[in-house]
Amino acid sequence: MTNPIEADLIVAADTVLTMDPGAAPLHQAAIAVGGDRIVAIGPAAELMSAHPTAPVLGGTGFMAIPGLVNAHQHLTGDRLIRSMIPDDLEPGRAVFEWAIPAHAAHTAGDDELSATLSLIEAACNGITFTVEAGTVAHPDRVLAGFDNVGVGGTLGSWGWDVDGEPWAGSVDEVLDRQREVQQLTAGHPRVDGWVTLVGHDLMSDELVVAASELARASDTGITFHLSPTDADAASYLSRTGALPAIHLDRLGVLGPHVLIAHGVHLDGDEIQRLLASDTALAYCPWAYLRLGQGVTRAGRHVEYIRRGGRVALGCDAENAGDAIDVLGAVALAAGLAKDTAVDPTVFGAGEALHHATLGAAAALGMADEIGSITVGKRADIALVDTTGPEWVPRSPDPVLQLVWASDGRSVRHVVASGRVVVHDGEPTLIDRSTLTAEAQQRHERLVHDAGLGH
Ligand SMILES: [Zn+2]
Repeated sequence: MTNPIEADLIVAADTVLTMDPGAAPLHQAAIAVGGDRIVAIGPAAELMSAHPTAPVLGGTGFMAIPGLVNAHQHLTGDRLIRSMIPDDLEPGRAVFEWAIPAHAAHTAGDDELSATLSLIEAACNGITFTVEAGTVAHPDRVLAGFDNVGVGGTLGSWGWDVDGEPWAGSVDEVLDRQREVQQLTAGHPRVDGWVTLVGHDLMSDELVVAASELARASDTGITFHLSPTDADAASYLSRTGALPAIHLDRLGVLGPHVLIAHGVHLDGDEIQRLLASDTALAYCPWAYLRLGQGVTRAGRHVEYIRRGGRVALGCDAENAGDAIDVLGAVALAAGLAKDTAVDPTVFGAGEALHHATLGAAAALGMADEIGSITVGKRADIALVDTTGPEWVPRSPDPVLQLVWASDGRSVRHVVASGRVVVHDGEPTLIDRSTLTAEAQQRHERLVHDAGLGH
């Protein structure tokens, strides 16, 4: 094989799951990386001889998968009070008595450290693209967090026009902040400026209409929270006389540029409107379980997928979902689908994994750029170490073993946009050990300043 494009790196593996539709796993294969792109895929021996000077990552004992997508992650606020919010609080208290006070006391430096720590954990678990969930006060510092780790994602700024809450503003102020993020990220090779609102019933009609228009006009995405519980339905019904998705559809907000986080408690008419508008959903099943929000009873995400809807998996926050490990969410999504249907034949490991890779990319409108190991796409690749105990003996079905026997802890090396950002389980662009003391100091100051834990 001759290749006209010189490779900077060869990623080799016993097994390559490209996640291209219908593609079988490749064996003894390699991926040639040039710049930030995948430039060739083929037999390992051929690619190595075609690019004899390129360094080789992986090889025997590794499985290559596409870098994973996390479609809903709060990169600030919860991180520095990780695993601190009790898991037996009444609905709403975790957010209004803990998370929001933590955000209110967050400094710019807290934002950068939080994002850096969260994205290190994400990268170490094979996640190379993260959708920030919409609660960022200092986007420049969160963008620095993306650069500290070398991964990609989408980023907006805190967007709500409620009274008396931190980082709130008028409609114009909120939109100006979103435009500032778009300027900040313009030309960034890995991070796209999105419009982000908090959502729920914490946005005026005027704000959500203008925000959706801004996203459309700037050819980018918008994300906001809606209906993880039935509280948004009750609130919209009393304010507007219609369920949330019906009301937003009437306002002209919905469309293929919209990624709604959660959408757990939706009725049939709402699902119909969301499907008809090609609105995507970010599905974070661990959060609903930890918060007791009723996904096992009300969740219809697999039905949404069956009817052609776009769905991506997410992890949410470090006190709601907790582990930033999309592979864990993949297994949970498959298990929940089977159990709630009382039908083991539905939504297997491969289909669930699709919604953390190519299906997730499609939900973000980025299927041409990320989500599969395909020539021309961004070189986002996770190498799974298949020598650990959970991989012995090797199953002939690598997807079953990856999803049901393993999780993000099997990921050993990660390439993002052509750069090795995790090597032997450690981030390469930043020394993780130097962050530990700072994280403890910032945690203690934040808990004190936010008046938490009393
Ligand atoms: Zn969220």
